[in-house]
Amino acid sequence: MTEIRNIVILTGAGISAESGIDTFRSAGGLWEQHRVEDVATPEAFARDPDLVHRFYDMRRASIREKLPNPAHFALAELDAAWRGNLLIVTQNVDDLHTRAGARRVLHMHGEHLKAWCTSCDVRSHWRGPLIDRPPCPICQSRSLRPDVVWFGEMPYRMGEIYGALREADLFVSIGTSGAVYPAAGFVQNARELGIRTLELNLEESQGSRWFHESRLGPASEVVPAWVAEVLRGG
Ligand SMILES: [Zn+2]
Repeated sequence: MTEIRNIVILTGAGISAESGIDTFRSAGGLWEQHRVEDVATPEAFARDPDLVHRFYDMRRASIREKLPNPAHFALAELDAAWRGNLLIVTQNVDDLHTRAGARRVLHMHGEHLKAWCTSCDVRSHWRGPLIDRPPCPICQSRSLRPDVVWFGEMPYRMGEIYGALREADLFVSIGTSGAVYPAAGFVQNARELGIRTLELNLEESQGSRWFHESRLGPASEVVPAWVAEVLRGG
């Protein structure tokens, strides 16, 4: 791997699971008798904004009690040490990569700790609840929504992600099922570009067959081991 210079890393729910952050699917799929998919859509927000705000207020509050785990810290260490290009593209809306110290992080599905004003289109850091319709810090209008990408909405900054892939020598997927597009398509895109591909996952995923190599195990073990190997130049 000595020729590796530019790295794109995709992270998913599997890296945050060991920090106690549940996924929609692992949570049993229900919340107050609603399917979670049904509170995470623009249609749900239009129909019952209080319900959607309550759901996201709860999740926003709960991530503040969670802590980054050794997988987040290992990627932050790699980010700090790596001289070439490196981009951590995360599907997670928690802030655990950042809290571990990583800087080159792209949140393709948005962030729990931001609110998006649909009046002035500005995204502001946000920690409190939104259910009481607080004013936007920029334009004072009461049109803030969670800055998370809902089912049926376009992920953020796809052009930047594909640009980074075109420059990359290595694509690494960590803790994702490989089932959800467009993220699932990144590995196929990487293969077409002739980039080496590595999967680090708890178990074999639906996308495993696309990767040159899969290493299976808990993220808190396989990610630090891989980072140590990369930093050794191995
Ligand atoms: Zn505003």
